[in-house]
Amino acid sequence: MRNARRYRLRFDEISGTLKLTCPWRVSRRAALAWALDQRDWIETQLARAEPGEPFEPDVMILLEGEDFRLVWDPGARRTPVIGDGEIRCGGPRERFARRIELLLTRRALDVMSREVADFAATAGVAVRSVSVGDAGSRWGSCSSQGRIRLSWRLILAPPLVRRYVIAHEVAHLVHLDHSARFKALESRLYGPGVAEAKALLRRLGPRLKRVGRGR
Ligand SMILES: [Zn+2]
Repeated sequence: MRNARRYRLRFDEISGTLKLTCPWRVSRRAALAWALDQRDWIETQLARAEPGEPFEPDVMILLEGEDFRLVWDPGARRTPVIGDGEIRCGGPRERFARRIELLLTRRALDVMSREVADFAATAGVAVRSVSVGDAGSRWGSCSSQGRIRLSWRLILAPPLVRRYVIAHEVAHLVHLDHSARFKALESRLYGPGVAEAKALLRRLGPRLKRVGRGR
């Protein structure tokens, strides 16, 4: 449930419908504009209502925007190895999904920590910590204390998508709003193509959120 003053948005998982409640004085247009701002939250609810795509042998997943087949090979190393179009993992079958998830979250933290550091150096701002998680509807967030938190799922997307989220969060370390100064810094960090990256994240978002869930 999302509350903002007297607006309320509710998602009914059983019927798969969204219900928007607003004060009677509010125009339909204003209410819809408010609901559109809740898009990330709505997409997360929709993604949750759809069946997940668990990490199982022979499933195809995206990694940095490219397709990889998950392979379970009992004779192979327990630590998954990323190879030519496949991610191969040994050890007991019941640990398979967990090992794949660990591989992806570690890689996400590794790659994105470096990118955060690069953007922060360009922006001339200090970062206290970078962490990855899978909380809520947000791809990234930052605190006024300089902590950046990113969704590990960004490692599934093409690099331009995650770089956009990182540039966005690093720019927030300087400007805690979406002002013109913020946008100027975001574009300076990211380079040309912010709008395209943002659109691609919107398009891929629901797919990224299904990966590794369920079963
Ligand atoms: Zn923002």
